[in-house]
Amino acid sequence: MICCIYPREGFSISSKKTVKNVPCVFCGCLCDDIALEVENNRIVKNINGCSLSKSKFLNHLEDRLLGPAVRINGILVEVSLEKAVAHAAEALTSARRPLIYGLSSTENDTHQEAYYLAELLGGVVDNTSSVCHGTSMIGSQESGDPLGSLAEVRHRADLVVYWGSNPQFAHPRHISRYIRQPGEYMQNPKKDRKIWVFDVRSTATSRIADEFFQIEPGTDLEVISVIRALVRGHEMDIDRVGGLAIEDLAKISEAMKSVRYGVFFYGLGLTQSKGQHRNVDAAIRLIQDLNSFTKWVMIPMRGHFNVAGANETSTWQTGYPFAVDYSRGYPRYQPGEYSAVDLIRRRETDVLLNVAADPVAHFPRDALEHLKRIPIINLDPKRNVTSLIAEVNIPTAIAGIECDGAAVRMDGLPLYLRKIVEPPEGIIPDRDVLKLIIARLRMVTKR
Ligand code: SF4
Repeated sequence: MICCIYPREGFSISSKKTVKNVPCVFCGCLCDDIALEVENNRIVKNINGCSLSKSKFLNHLEDRLLGPAVRINGILVEVSLEKAVAHAAEALTSARRPLIYGLSSTENDTHQEAYYLAELLGGVVDNTSSVCHGTSMIGSQESGDPLGSLAEVRHRADLVVYWGSNPQFAHPRHISRYIRQPGEYMQNPKKDRKIWVFDVRSTATSRIADEFFQIEPGTDLEVISVIRALVRGHEMDIDRVGGLAIEDLAKISEAMKSVRYGVFFYGLGLTQSKGQHRNVDAAIRLIQDLNSFTKWVMIPMRGHFNVAGANETSTWQTGYPFAVDYSRGYPRYQPGEYSAVDLIRRRETDVLLNVAADPVAHFPRDALEHLKRIPIINLDPKRNVTSLIAEVNIPTAIAGIECDGAAVRMDGLPLYLRKIVEPPEGIIPDRDVLKLIIARLRMVTKR
């Protein structure tokens, strides 16, 4: 559904501009070379963006929530922002185990307000990494974080490994922007930079790779451990592992030792398959071993544009990257205990404040059964499945399109997000909605 509020009052009908170097707020690549043509406060052209980027920017007015609404007698009724905020604050203060969840598709200042609110409530705050790369955090807490930067990869890497990730589908410009582009020390990347894919099935990325190693599902830990043993010079008394012959794995390990600069990109095929954080732990240790011979780094292929930022800001402010519980007045961290899906499945949560995510669309069925029974306060720019069952919907401005902010790229680089157009009338950023909820809560509880 298209919002019909444009052009806004006071906006010149002939207003036209091109905004350059805009970070794309779709995936973790955060491509910051997008040029947008804006006419009468509407984005009419996206230059440089991939198809996902074009869809996000050009359709940013579609399916919008147009005003705050509260469910009364089972029906969502439009109310003022003040009333929606009061209703949200009331639901949060009367809860025993409030949960704040989401945060990966919004900007860093919103995170700050969410952590503050969680602390005030004595609640739990979790971000979407608990169902994607949270295991990467746990792996790096155990074994270190040999992170590299995308710029360095472009300038130096001569071997690029994608393990359990399919960037041609999920991060469409990852290869064209960083891998196929010439760099300072890599003048002819098409010839001199090799792409290897390890995956359980053929993908769009494996089809353009120089080498594709198909491994059996659930054997990532074994395959990585054997490569690691071979890198360290151990002899193996088995013929095959994970569907790959030991001779081939020996060649792989030798090739990995002999490159000048290698990068190991990994996705949910590694972090969410059998072994989970143990897979990541093994991969980190492999990269550490390879650094005895040559230079290797590893970079997670982050999905939502600011899920890396959610982990960073959570770590800055609470000491932990996700799944943080304030019920004792200080932050405690226990994935599996305080992560959103687990809390909801155990039916501990009695109110959910959802910020810029769609848990009802993505959580498992048993969690969904409980979500249907508890009040959900939903802060999001668009209609989604969560908004359909929410008790309170408060529409918000889209970060990086209708309000500014900061976000963190998959390699840890923070980028400033631009405000390109005005949000629909009366709609404010989610950080400001959270501030209103906090102010109301403090007024009511005198905290
Ligand atoms: S690759 Fe990702 S960040 Fe880059 S333009 Fe496409 S959707 Fe946007």
